[in-house]
Amino acid sequence: MKHDELFVHYQPLVSLRDGALVGAEALLRWRHGGAGLIEPAKFIPLAEETGLIVPLGEWVLSQACAQVKAWDEAGVPSLDIGVNLSGYQFQRGTIARTVRKALSRAAVEPNRLILEVTENFLMEEAADIAAALGTLKTLGVQLAIDDFGTGYASLSALRRLPFHTLKIDRSFVRNVNDDPDAAAIVKAIIAMAHNLGLTVVAEGVETPAQERFLKEAGCDEAQGFLYSPALSPEDFAQFLEAYAEKTHI
Ligand code: C2E
Ligand code: MG
Ligand code: MG
Repeated sequence: MKHDELFVHYQPLVSLRDGALVGAEALLRWRHGGAGLIEPAKFIPLAEETGLIVPLGEWVLSQACAQVKAWDEAGVPSLDIGVNLSGYQFQRGTIARTVRKALSRAAVEPNRLILEVTENFLMEEAADIAAALGTLKTLGVQLAIDDFGTGYASLSALRRLPFHTLKIDRSFVRNVNDDPDAAAIVKAIIAMAHNLGLTVVAEGVETPAQERFLKEAGCDEAQGFLYSPALSPEDFAQFLEAYAEKTHI
């Protein structure tokens, strides 16, 4: 952060109903002077171990909120923004205040922000987490469960906790066209999520065949290289223009 080597990139989120762009996910990037681009999977765990995830997470939130404001001001159709939260950011009991501060500083409505937490994280200190998620829900932000299907969240947790969105992990999406088990699991997740009143997002959509399967299965939204990888704000602006032209929206 001190060396100005961190960046937030944005990956588009597309509606499977009409192809409209509905939002973006903020993904952290580290361009290290000597080592080139370092993946979040490598440095997020380190940031968690050292406690640096707290200032880092706060910074990502403020960048993401400022970006939403910038899109609004550029007259882009209103986009929601997803931000990943680590379990460590909940440990000090200040997460709701941090979120509220980021939103008000950028003058962004809470319902534009989607906070993503992974399934495994729900297993830790269940009571505290449930209370913190409840407070965040009261603020008016949307909550999403990320990488669904890879962790150990119980189905009763899904029913109890105030989620709005469920994101199906890439590992299932990857195999929907050639593995009947993966296809069955994805269909079952979509049916279950819809019955619980959740919006379903498929992660890691790379091919038209996967998209077709997901549409037929009733999945609501998709994200993946088929549409675009995560982009810098400048590249995202270009993507928006090209996308609007392509889809005539
Ligand atoms: P995630 O939240 O599940 O993010 C989706 C990941 O899938 C991203 O990897 C994205 O680039 C990648 N992806 C998207 N579409 C495709 C596709 O079609 N094919 C393939 N192969 N990959 C695709 P990324 O950016 O490397 O991030 C990895 C993970 O690091 C994220 O998974 C998230 O858990 C974590 N992360 C990223 N940024 C942050 C952050 O600001 N805070 C926290 N706490 N975690 C973050
Ligand atoms: Mg995510
Ligand atoms: Mg994910």
